[in-house]
Amino acid sequence: MSSSHQTSKYFDTGATTTLPRRSTRANLASQSYKPEPSDDDVTFGSDIEDAVKPAASSPPPKGAVRRITAKRQRASTLSSPPAKKKIKPPPDSDSSLSSLSDSDLSSPESKPTAKSKPAPKPRLPKSLQPTTTKPPENWDRVYTLAKQMRLPGGAASNAAVDTMGCERLALATASPLDRRLHTLVSLMLSSQTKDTVNAVAMRRLQTELPPCTPDAEPGLNLANLLAVDPVVLNELIGKVGFHNNKTKYLKQAAEILRDKFSGDIPDTIEGMMSLPGVGPKMAHLCMAADNGWGRVEGIGVDVHVHRITNLWGWQKSKTPEETRKALESWLPKEKWKEINWLLVGLGQAVCLPVGRRCGECEVGLEGLCRAADRVKVNEGRRRRKDMGREVVEKTEVVEKKEEVGAVVKKEEEDGPVDFTTTTTKTEAIAVKDEVKTERAESTDRLRTSYTRIRRSARTAPA
Ligand code: SF4
Repeated sequence: MSSSHQTSKYFDTGATTTLPRRSTRANLASQSYKPEPSDDDVTFGSDIEDAVKPAASSPPPKGAVRRITAKRQRASTLSSPPAKKKIKPPPDSDSSLSSLSDSDLSSPESKPTAKSKPAPKPRLPKSLQPTTTKPPENWDRVYTLAKQMRLPGGAASNAAVDTMGCERLALATASPLDRRLHTLVSLMLSSQTKDTVNAVAMRRLQTELPPCTPDAEPGLNLANLLAVDPVVLNELIGKVGFHNNKTKYLKQAAEILRDKFSGDIPDTIEGMMSLPGVGPKMAHLCMAADNGWGRVEGIGVDVHVHRITNLWGWQKSKTPEETRKALESWLPKEKWKEINWLLVGLGQAVCLPVGRRCGECEVGLEGLCRAADRVKVNEGRRRRKDMGREVVEKTEVVEKKEEVGAVVKKEEEDGPVDFTTTTTKTEAIAVKDEVKTERAESTDRLRTSYTRIRRSARTAPA
């Protein structure tokens, strides 16, 4: 009997499991050194190579088996010890495998490996990512133009915030403690409410809030706020937006001020933000207000500041809080308080949320606003050019009038030419003629200017 028959017999008698289709030396070796697989490891009805799930003691993967086999074959054919490491052939060479030594084949460390990519840097959540610190281009020119508009004579000089802003609603005759409370309450009432409406509600609280005791004064102070019936309070502030919620917040805040802050408003941003209905905007405005604590610790960013700075492209932010962080990262600190006054007024008078007046906006006219309405800006520029021409003409007329008046006055002062005092008669006549000519020329020029003005007035659109 041949050895193959004997081997078959051995497997026929000794094994009941399915044999592998290919009986390579590696397979047989792995079979002989491996412990018996448990039932859990075997999937019946498939090759054993495939049926046995890879385990810690399982044979090396297919590629590794081929390498090991090649190594053994080479070891058996070569009697001499393998040469030391050879020079690496070019990668496209067919004989690359045969030219490698055993050490090359057996040690994967020595093989050239593909350059691994650097691990991607972990990304911070968006809220924690650092905000911009680079000031936007031309920001200082834009700021200066906006300020020009807010100063007397500018297009946004008479904004409601100048007379009815929250900072201005504290009663001048009240104590500093009560004025701080007035500022806080006016800020709490101001959200989603126009300055004019807010001012009326504040005035009512300052005059009509019932006294807490019969002998106390009516008006806005902590004792009266604590004692007032919520229904009465709600009626007094009934014109402001979300007055039901604001009534609730005011009553809760009054209790917190009494219990945790000794009856005064908190003197920290965190303390203020611990009050119901008070966010970062109100906290920073109250902190910086003259009738608050007068300390600038951040920018009070309301809807106008958020909207206009985004229109100018100073940052791309979704919330006022993002805008505040972005602005604080580059805007000089001395402007942190002013920018709220500046942009709230601009937003109320020129850069309105609906129906912006880009034709009157210096920033738009100078071409520095990327959100400007081009049609309005062009109209504004044309209007300004015409106005400029008119102003020049008017100035010319005034100058001529003054000139003629001076000539006439000179003649009146000097009196008629005295021939007896002049050196010669010819000289006297020359002086008189000169005065006459001057007067005639001035009158002509004046007449021409008037005609031109009248003509331009007739052709100008109504
Ligand atoms: S140009 Fe128009 S959009 Fe730009 S700031 Fe002025 S008013 Fe606003």
